[in-house]
Amino acid sequence: MFAALHRATARPRSLALAAALCAALCAAPACSADAATLTQRLADIREVNRFVPERALPMLREIEAEGRAAPLPERAEFLNQLASAQYVLGHNEEALATTEELIALGRTHKDTVALAKGLLRKGYIESGEHRLPESHRLIREAEQLARTTRDFDLRLRTLISTGETYAEEGNLPTALDRLQTAAALARQSGDPVQIVMTLNSLARLYGLLRDPEAGLKLLEEATTAALKTNSPGRMATLKDAEYGLAIAARQYQRGLRALQDALALERKIGAHSMVAYTLVNLSDCYLKLHDYRNAANYAEQTIQAARKLNDRGLEITARLNLGQAYMALGRLVEGKRHIEAGLAGYEDLGDKPELQMVLEEYGAALERAGDLSGALHAYHRERKISNELFEQRRQQAVLDLQSKYEADKKQQQIELLRSENQIKSAELDNRRLQQRVWWLLAVVFALASAVVGLLYRKVRHANAALHEKNRELKQQSVRDPLTALYNRRHFLEFMRGVPGKGTGAATGAPEETTGALFLLDVDHFKHINDTYGHAAGDAVLTAIAAGLREILRETDMIVRWGGEEFLAYLPTIPAGGLDEVAQRILNGIASIRVRHGEGELSVNVSIGYAPFPIRVGGQALPWERAVNLVDMALYLAKSHGRNRAYGVRGFADPEKACIDEIEQNLERAWRAGQVDLSVVLGEWKELRIASA
Ligand code: GH3
Ligand code: MG
Ligand code: MG
Repeated sequence: MFAALHRATARPRSLALAAALCAALCAAPACSADAATLTQRLADIREVNRFVPERALPMLREIEAEGRAAPLPERAEFLNQLASAQYVLGHNEEALATTEELIALGRTHKDTVALAKGLLRKGYIESGEHRLPESHRLIREAEQLARTTRDFDLRLRTLISTGETYAEEGNLPTALDRLQTAAALARQSGDPVQIVMTLNSLARLYGLLRDPEAGLKLLEEATTAALKTNSPGRMATLKDAEYGLAIAARQYQRGLRALQDALALERKIGAHSMVAYTLVNLSDCYLKLHDYRNAANYAEQTIQAARKLNDRGLEITARLNLGQAYMALGRLVEGKRHIEAGLAGYEDLGDKPELQMVLEEYGAALERAGDLSGALHAYHRERKISNELFEQRRQQAVLDLQSKYEADKKQQQIELLRSENQIKSAELDNRRLQQRVWWLLAVVFALASAVVGLLYRKVRHANAALHEKNRELKQQSVRDPLTALYNRRHFLEFMRGVPGKGTGAATGAPEETTGALFLLDVDHFKHINDTYGHAAGDAVLTAIAAGLREILRETDMIVRWGGEEFLAYLPTIPAGGLDEVAQRILNGIASIRVRHGEGELSVNVSIGYAPFPIRVGGQALPWERAVNLVDMALYLAKSHGRNRAYGVRGFADPEKACIDEIEQNLERAWRAGQVDLSVVLGEWKELRIASA
């Protein structure tokens, strides 16, 4: 059996076009142009167009002026129907021009529905012209656009057609997925036209999936829906599908019945192109049933119909069928003539795969018929084409390999870029993390510094406080709390540290310097306490201390020696200047005024003094004895009337003088000329309550 016959069952138009044709015809609607709106009339024409384009085309021509001037949606639909009719009726160039017009309309007005319809229509035409890759591209683009519209019918049709493009590419799983989605949508919509359209396409796919039984089952559901549409065209389409599936299931009688039913329906509505395809299928079916007379009969009828339709492909198929039937009937010469004509047709169309298949089977048929030289000739032709095809396929394979290599290379580059990108972003993350760690460290460091700073300040404060306390303690230990002068204990310690001080003594020469001790006692101090109170006495003592600090130098050491007694140690004064200091002290203290109540108090002091160190009996007098000596002088000052100062200037014979004797009675030693004393009198008398 010739391969060409199988091809006849699958229709020369692609699956996609078959889907466009698959819905049923309305029961020959008479379009009453007056009453119906343009939209309604276009819907009616569309139904006619699906099955009987030869009737639809004049109807479209009739409303052409109105259709082209109509608002965009109607105008687009008009062009769509016109292009469809034109193409099915073989006016290919006109159909293509109308389609381009539709696409341009969609683009100009940015109308997605119009554009999607135009692309879909062009996809069908490309499919009819055997340019499948371009057809698939257009149909899928249309589907993408349709998705964004609200036109459900358009969405469904583009989805079905997209499924069919995958089937044509041999990607049957994706095709099944798309068509099952479409079937679910159609069933959901409940529209019988849409259900028939979708299930018909899905049933044919089951044929390709070699599951004709499943396809036949779907057709039953589709038939139930088709009955509701009361459309012979639609029923005929389903019968056609049933034929294909029945043959695939090797149910040839059922296939024959389906074709006969389809033919009756198609003839009833005058669907000539459908009739033509059913005729060729009938010839094919009869060949399968070895009924060569009927096969030849239907093949002849097909040739007539194909010529009227200007369908070259169909005519070629019919000729091959006819040739095969004649050969089987023993009419070898006629048979060969028709087959040669068919082969020439394929050569014209450049359809080498078909040509090869036909030649192979033709050779076998000639061999069976005993025409061995004819068979050999056919084999040679078949081999030549086979070689050409092999070369073509080899080149294609090389090209495919190249493009696959390019694609792989590109993919590798993309992978490389991606991994570089990943590395870069990881680096970036790392850097960010590092930064965060640094920040954290900085914060921790700052906090730690703050804490350390605080602690340090606290410690410094504590240290300062401690220092202050120590200083206070030390002061308390060396100072007298009332007058803040040095206390007696400090003086004793101080003197212990200056032993060498007793080595020499001043001679009294004015340019010489010496040290000196002054011992003071407040005159009649008891009286102050008794009369004005102890606090007044304290105030007087404080005032005297302050006065002494002013009168003496900073380097002089002033000590509170006892209750109202003060000792001053002057480390360096001119040797002849002691009397003057005594005078300054007498006058200075006497001039002090201490506020008491509304009046003022003042006091006098008596002073005993001597240079220190001082030599007696061949040696320097220790400081304790020197203090004793000035105490004696002070006693003299007291006893001679107070408010005065007695100073030891020196001894008549320092080497021989006996200090014990002198200490016992200074006045007597003075009178005896052993000791040289100076007397300084206070110039001012004390004043008590001056203003009282
Ligand atoms: P004179 O020295 O002139 O002989 O007479 P006087 O009254 O000063 O003699 P005396 O030594 O008897 O008196 C000293 C008094 O000083 C006795 C004591 O109560 C008083 N006195 C000693 N220490 C303090 C003191 O710190 N504050 C006060 N207010 N009085 C004190
Ligand atoms: Mg005293
Ligand atoms: Mg006194």
